[in-house]
Amino acid sequence: MALRLTASILGGSGGLSVVDQNGVHVYAAKDADVIMTAAILGFSAGRLAVGHPVQFDSDDPNDAKLRGAVEKLNDALGIRYSFGGAVTCGVTPPWREGAMITGAAGASRTPFAQRHATASASAALEFHDIASRDTDVGYQGRGAYTGFIDDPVENRGSIKATARFNVPVMGHGDRWRPPTYKVKGGDHNQVPWGLIAGVRELEGGMVQEPFSTPMGVVGYTHGMIQAIYDAVAHGPWCTPFEIAVGHQTTKLASCFPCTLFMYAAGYPPSSIHLGRGESWVPFYPASPGASGYSAFVDAAIQSTNTRWQLECRQHLTLGVQIMTQNNVMKTHHERLSLLKQYLSSHANDLHCAANLILDAITVHCSEVDRINQTLK
Ligand SMILES: [Zn+2]
Repeated sequence: MALRLTASILGGSGGLSVVDQNGVHVYAAKDADVIMTAAILGFSAGRLAVGHPVQFDSDDPNDAKLRGAVEKLNDALGIRYSFGGAVTCGVTPPWREGAMITGAAGASRTPFAQRHATASASAALEFHDIASRDTDVGYQGRGAYTGFIDDPVENRGSIKATARFNVPVMGHGDRWRPPTYKVKGGDHNQVPWGLIAGVRELEGGMVQEPFSTPMGVVGYTHGMIQAIYDAVAHGPWCTPFEIAVGHQTTKLASCFPCTLFMYAAGYPPSSIHLGRGESWVPFYPASPGASGYSAFVDAAIQSTNTRWQLECRQHLTLGVQIMTQNNVMKTHHERLSLLKQYLSSHANDLHCAANLILDAITVHCSEVDRINQTLK
């Protein structure tokens, strides 16, 4: 990876003095708006094209913001890209201790409510118990989820909590970072870009890799994603799960960045929310000979990441076809043109679209707000 140090994600015009409270160019937020809206539209159209359900859930059955965003998505899809279907709103399954999100193998055609599985192996039941009750295991703070797998054949596995990593600098395409910024924990010389809440360490027991220098980008790998790598590495009988832990997390649904990865890997989620997936990242595979390298686990990481990178490209390409001057807010017209240009000038770059999505979600905002800010 090379680090792109530009004021906004997609470049182009815009007064350099126009910055937000963190010293970040306001056009970076507009870029993030069009990138994520394109990804959501492309994802939705691609599923509707083959008659699969597309449903976004909220805890609140009368969530006006979500309803507004879904209406805008359907308007933008129009007859041409809704293929006789429609994006719908649903209610997140109710929270109870130990309730789970399922990565349901091959279930993209199945209605969401029918995607829930239960763990069967005794090891999985034990992990589930520990993850849901033991307050010393994994990250327990705001937005905490813990992943694990059900492996009924080998009766094995482990608990996979969300963890923070430094995004590797070489070999995985370009990533964006503003040249200057100032967050709670410090400025661009003191802390990396992408920190949740702008703080050096989140409380609640999360494993957080010490910063590498010079300051680059950090990301957070959710438990479900780690569980999917485990499932792919070990066998088609494995089911990845994620449970909401602690009492600060109530959404029993997957964030949109997890959703893209889960569909690409063949384990679509039992519920999707359009809240935040702040600074989400996958794992990056180790090279043969590197410490901790495993031929099977690293091949699982490499192959699922490649599927995900391809689908990110397909979603963004379809998404920008759907987005026009007619359905996009005037404030975002220039950013949409820049996104189209960026994709066509990186036509042969496997990492480009996935990394644009990763760049966009370092500008922290809910996907619902991004849709409402971008679409008419
Ligand atoms: Zn997630």
